[in-house]
Amino acid sequence: MKVDDLVIGGGPGGTPAAMALATAGRSVLLVETRAGRGGTCLFEGCIPSKILRESARRLQDVRRAQEFGLQVPAGEIGVDWGAIMKRKASILRGRADGALQRARQIPTLTVQFGSAALLGPRRARITPRDGAPEEVEFGSAIIATGSVPNLLPVTGVGLPQVLTSEQMLEIDRVPKRLAVIGAGPIGVEMAQIFAAFGSRVTLLEAGPRILAPVDEEIAIALQEHIRRQGIALELGVQVAAIARDGDGVRVKYRDAAGARREAQAELVLEATGRRPNVDGLGPAHTAGRHDPRGVKADTRLATGEPCI
Ligand SMILES: Cc1cc2nc3c(=O)[nH]c(=O)nc-3n(C[C@H](O)[C@H](O)[C@H](O)COP(=O)(O)OP(=O)(O)OC[C@H]3O[C@@H](n4cnc5c(N)ncnc54)[C@H](O)[C@@H]3O)c2cc1C
Repeated sequence: MKVDDLVIGGGPGGTPAAMALATAGRSVLLVETRAGRGGTCLFEGCIPSKILRESARRLQDVRRAQEFGLQVPAGEIGVDWGAIMKRKASILRGRADGALQRARQIPTLTVQFGSAALLGPRRARITPRDGAPEEVEFGSAIIATGSVPNLLPVTGVGLPQVLTSEQMLEIDRVPKRLAVIGAGPIGVEMAQIFAAFGSRVTLLEAGPRILAPVDEEIAIALQEHIRRQGIALELGVQVAAIARDGDGVRVKYRDAAGARREAQAELVLEATGRRPNVDGLGPAHTAGRHDPRGVKADTRLATGEPCI
């Protein structure tokens, strides 16, 4: 097979690039490992987290309804977690189907579900999800393989109670106690969502404040807000280990003053950042062409190979 452009990864990066190239009349092959197009954002990131956040926000609104002069039945408002997850699955399915239909309307765009590995500057091997591998020759390629969670190198991180954000968005219940390690955008958002649903949340952050890349003024204001929401926020901590404790776990850490502390939890969310997803990119991509921050590229975003 021969194409003008190969796009590796069907997330919010690769998809618009592939569609724009194909709309301009070029022959494009878009390869995506998952069974659907939409990437981290659709399947385990922005969209599912915003769906849960929306239910959490509406729950908070209902709880405060009387303050706004609305009459709601007295007592605790119930949460049907199964229904929330069912709604999420149905929205994700609809969006994935819609995205695929839009791509299929562009005649010069071929979408292949499988993985792509670069064999050389203009050759790649495509291994379809169902079928035999085949080689493709391309004029240029775009690497848009995104990122995966970066796990802390501490003992206990492999315990079944320790979840990534992807696993957290799939859980079958609201945990009674949740420890979140990492107060970046993902950790803070999940802490707020699950606190709203009734979890007792401890949020552990190594830095001196939450949301390191965000303006300090905003981060400090949000810090005060999340503490008012009942989230136990600890800053300047060093997590040392996670140990089994009955059905749950204990997160062992040193606090900002250096004292040994522990946080008990039913589940732990590991939200300590993400690393570039370059593992399967193949032999032609291994020779120092990426570092822990991502694929190395020049100001044109070209790698060592000008056509990639
Ligand atoms: C919990 C969470 C919440 C988030 N919330 C937000 C938010 O609210 N707003 C926001 O702007 N961003 C949010 N993000 C970030 C957002 O999801 C990413 O910035 C975005 O998905 C990056 O797009 P991408 O196309 O670069 O990579 P991805 O979306 O990761 O897509 C890369 C795709 O490449 C595929 N792939 C990898 N290797 C290969 C291979 N060898 N061959 C073929 N395919 C391959 C992967 O399967 C994947 O589908 C969130 C992320 C997470 C985890």
